[in-house]
Amino acid sequence: MTTPDSELAAAAAHLRAGRLVAFPTETVYGLGADATNPAAVAAIYAAKGRPDFNPLIVHVPDLAAAGAIARLDGRAERLAAAFWPGALTMVLPLREDAGIAPRVTAGLDTIALRIPAHPLARALLAAAGRPLAGPSANPSGRVSPTTAAHVRDGLGDKVAMILDGGACPVGLESTIVGLAGEPARLLRPGGVPAEAIEALIGRLERPAGGVAVSAPGMLESHYAPTAPVRLDATAPLADRPESLLAFGPAVPAGFARVLSLSPSGDLEEAARNLFAHLRRLDEDGAAAIAVMPIPGHGLGAAINDRLRRAAAPRPRTIQNQVQP
Ligand code: AMP
Ligand code: MG
Repeated sequence: MTTPDSELAAAAAHLRAGRLVAFPTETVYGLGADATNPAAVAAIYAAKGRPDFNPLIVHVPDLAAAGAIARLDGRAERLAAAFWPGALTMVLPLREDAGIAPRVTAGLDTIALRIPAHPLARALLAAAGRPLAGPSANPSGRVSPTTAAHVRDGLGDKVAMILDGGACPVGLESTIVGLAGEPARLLRPGGVPAEAIEALIGRLERPAGGVAVSAPGMLESHYAPTAPVRLDATAPLADRPESLLAFGPAVPAGFARVLSLSPSGDLEEAARNLFAHLRRLDEDGAAAIAVMPIPGHGLGAAINDRLRRAAAPRPRTIQNQVQP
């Protein structure tokens, strides 16, 4: 898919004027704003309905731009050499003179940085000439968007423009590693498997209580479709019709509807399909969604993290939207 230069120029102009532009990355679609503009950053929180204690990831074009905003130690440099551009976010000490709007970091003295690999994200960063705050382009708590149509459905009336880069090739958010202190911590499993990171900088601490709850703002219920979600399903329930999110070749019978994340049991394919399939089952009116067990290695850790939070008890604002 090619995007005309005129569209990129228009998107960059919107960003420089403080407006929001949704853009594709290899992980999910981001809701972009100029990270140096306090009003633009405020607009992100307002558009998403995001609690403002939940800091944003900032996207930069290259290592020089990252180094101007944060301090990278030896571990960060090794990870950057191996995984940037790519689906890795590093939380690093923020430079006082970085010029980043304080709400980006929710007032913390650390900042989450990523160099994305998607060609359209890179072209947009180059054209805008600013670091871009870019959380996932969905209403807070909802399933992340992996196509431009998903963004339009959730936030279409809140953005100046949506750049369409087709379906996101990874399909899961970035892995977040905390490097502001020792030891390095896995704050969110994601598109780069933790094993690959540990091979370079040693064991990552998994904060007690599960990785999901330790990063500020890592809310327990998240990525939630409208229908309730049941995990590790190996057979249908007797008392209610469920749609099944299957994985692998052996699919149990008796479900109202079946969508497979990967018929061959491939975790990368499953990651690419996860959010789109959850949405599809919702749109098709699933009363409830059952999910087959997914292995926990490689991308399976991130897939299971998202599923666990899709299945978590929901705050009242989301519960109210659940169909009876
Ligand atoms: P999202 O932008 O929706 O992919 O979420 C980004 C996540 O990054 C947030 O939920 C935060 O928990 C995490 N994050 C961002 N900045 C920081 C930071 N300075 N320290 C720790 N976690 C962060
Ligand atoms: Mg998000």
